[in-house]
Amino acid sequence: MIQDTARNFARSELEPVAAKMDQAGDRETYLKNLRKLAELGLMGINVRSEYGGSEAGVVAFSVAVTEIARACASTTVTMSVNNMVNEVIQAVGSGDQRKKYIPRICSGEYYAGGFALTETMAGSDPASMRTQAVLDGDSWVINGSKIFISSAEYAGVFIVWAVTSKDAPKGKGISTFLVENGTKGLTVGRAEHKMGHHASATNELLFEDCRIPKDALMGKLNDGFRVAVGELAGGRIGVGSLGIGIGLAAIDYATRYAMNRIQFDQPITSFQAIQWMIAESYTELEAARLLLLNAAFKKERGKPYAREASMAKYYATEAAERACHRALQMLGGYGYTNELPIERYARDVRITSIYEGTNQVQRLIIARDILSGLK
Ligand SMILES: Cc1cc2nc3c(=O)[nH]c(=O)nc-3n(C[C@H](O)[C@H](O)[C@H](O)COP(=O)(O)OP(=O)(O)OC[C@H]3O[C@@H](n4cnc5c(N)ncnc54)[C@H](O)[C@@H]3O)c2cc1C
Repeated sequence: MIQDTARNFARSELEPVAAKMDQAGDRETYLKNLRKLAELGLMGINVRSEYGGSEAGVVAFSVAVTEIARACASTTVTMSVNNMVNEVIQAVGSGDQRKKYIPRICSGEYYAGGFALTETMAGSDPASMRTQAVLDGDSWVINGSKIFISSAEYAGVFIVWAVTSKDAPKGKGISTFLVENGTKGLTVGRAEHKMGHHASATNELLFEDCRIPKDALMGKLNDGFRVAVGELAGGRIGVGSLGIGIGLAAIDYATRYAMNRIQFDQPITSFQAIQWMIAESYTELEAARLLLLNAAFKKERGKPYAREASMAKYYATEAAERACHRALQMLGGYGYTNELPIERYARDVRITSIYEGTNQVQRLIIARDILSGLK
């Protein structure tokens, strides 16, 4: 039912406007669609109903993300990050924090929540972050900056990680905070000019003596790095699911196109070279889908799933990139123009092997987990 809901919405409301949102940066339509996703219950799929979520689990989340991504990757990235923000607040937020923020994201009152971890000197290595939070009376005072924060321009609240114990061993002195957008001392800075995901905003965040209440700390003091790493594993299920949505959209389009494209007096699908591209793309995307469902199922059952999420993320996003590459090839020169959607898919898919931890980092996580198990 959730797959059908997401698919129907993607086909009827998103697909017709996705190219316009990409080319003209139509933010108004983009935000309207985020709100409609919330109305359909798709902004809190893995969130408990007492906080306004659909409580449908991680498998449902993965399936819905893929369907939305078949139409518009820019919309899907906000959907996926919103889920991460909700999950963190649900996992480590106080009763009051949960009641205040999660329903606002699930209902669409906030278009988005922001997940503010990355810094200029802390990308693949987030434990190197420099943003600091210092306790001053009844407030925390944050100074520093974040970069590449999805949805920052229209997020209602950010989860912000900052160093709270400078002298602690690496990764042991970081804490998690909730900072509302509009707080004095927080500026949403420069928007990145990206290769893809044009409809969604990605900005830097600047903190200059940004004062937040003492109870804006989430979870335990100095336990933030563990919280971030834990949620990134969940985010990888979102990004992998997003990737295969784009890959499927590309190969579906290219296959239909190839059936009607006549060269040498026959549809180009009669050539074995084209048939192989179709067969390889669908096979790899199906394998990716099963890896993702496996990781999602384990997470849903409360089992360890970090290795499976990394496997699924790296395999799915690379399978999706290959599918987009082949799809563009199948369209010949027409695939390279923005008259047809393939060039957008090829641009949008490229980031999926970079964000939520690059695919090199995923391979490190998988190998470390295997090796530590053998020890
Ligand atoms: C569109 C977009 C949206 C984003 N959204 C968010 C967001 O909402 N919140 C957020 O916090 N961040 C976000 N990010 C940041 C993203 O997660 C980082 O860009 C990513 O983690 C990589 O960090 P980096 O860009 O600093 O690359 P670097 O860490 O500098 O990596 C550069 C290269 O070195 C390789 N490398 C680094 N370390 C190793 C290693 N140990 N072994 C092997 N290879 C290595 C990497 O794989 C990569 O190929 C976003 C980024 C983009 C572009």
